Amino acid sequence: MSLSEFELISRYFSQPRSPRADVILGVGDDCALLQPPADRQLAISMDTLVEGRHFSPGADAHDLGHKCLAANLSDLAAMGAEPAWLTLALTLPGADADWLGGFAAGFEALATEHAVQLVGGDTTRGPLSITVQAHGFVEPGQALRRDGARPGDLIYVSGTLGDAGLALRVAQGLSVAAEHLPFLRGRLHRPTPRVALGRALRGLASAAIDLSDGLGSDLRHICEASATGATLYLQNLPRSAGVAAYVDETGDWTLPLAAGDDYELCFTVPPEHQVAVEALATTVSCPLTWVGMIEKGAGLRAVLPDGRHTDEIPNGYDHFAND
Ligand code: ADP
Ligand code: MG
Repeated sequence: MSLSEFELISRYFSQPRSPRADVILGVGDDCALLQPPADRQLAISMDTLVEGRHFSPGADAHDLGHKCLAANLSDLAAMGAEPAWLTLALTLPGADADWLGGFAAGFEALATEHAVQLVGGDTTRGPLSITVQAHGFVEPGQALRRDGARPGDLIYVSGTLGDAGLALRVAQGLSVAAEHLPFLRGRLHRPTPRVALGRALRGLASAAIDLSDGLGSDLRHICEASATGATLYLQNLPRSAGVAAYVDETGDWTLPLAAGDDYELCFTVPPEHQVAVEALATTVSCPLTWVGMIEKGAGLRAVLPDGRHTDEIPNGYDHFAND
């Protein structure tokens, strides 16, 4: 079945399941008209998924709808912002109704869960590429920026690390015990943006970032922005059963340390807020694990499980590495 551009937009993208009162005019006119709250700053983030680069040809459309939105909500979470509005730029090789139905369902389900509304976008023809922009609100002065870490702050991460990376290796042929597969695949294809955690960390965390490229490389961004360094204790890195088994078997720490796509939060906590932050794990139903310390000396270091120190931390994903 073939659809015109306008049929496609009206069928799949113009009937929000969670309409918001602050959307004065949504999809359908030249611009959306939005009413931001008077006393909030607007937090804006954009992410693109390109076929062949971020996902394989033939990837499930529902998963893609979920993931492109999850990546953006994760950025808002990392700033402590409350998600509100979305725009979506789709470049499609054709108007495939099955694909569009699956994509829109995945997108809408996560949008509804977070009470965010798609308010506009753009649709063009070409190689499959998906760009989402998310808009959120944050109280002035309360955003969790990358530049607030100070020597003596504790470093925490949410959830478990390396799951998406392990699922990717499985897709490339690595074999792991079958019992781990559903969890690992869920982590790769339907990541959970830690929005409630990000909101709860306002006033408690001194800096935060979401883990899209890998802990080593993302923590480096905090250290550089904050003009500090850090030490990570590898034994503490939270590992799911599948990643734990992989690390135990191979002695290879690259997955929890440098694999991307987990969309967990890494954040720094001044010692006086440690107790309050640890209590949040229950409130937001998400494990929070202490993994290291912010220090004065620049650079990233790690203490291995056997007590040896290293400063050779593998870097995470870089689109322009090795060009
Ligand atoms: P214009 O030509 O004025 O830019 P378009 O024809 O591109 O408008 O889009 C018509 C309407 O549909 C606009 O409100 C636009 O924001 C919306 N729109 C287009 N593509 C999408 C999409 N993929 N998702 C959501 N809204 C979309
Ligand atoms: Mg126009």
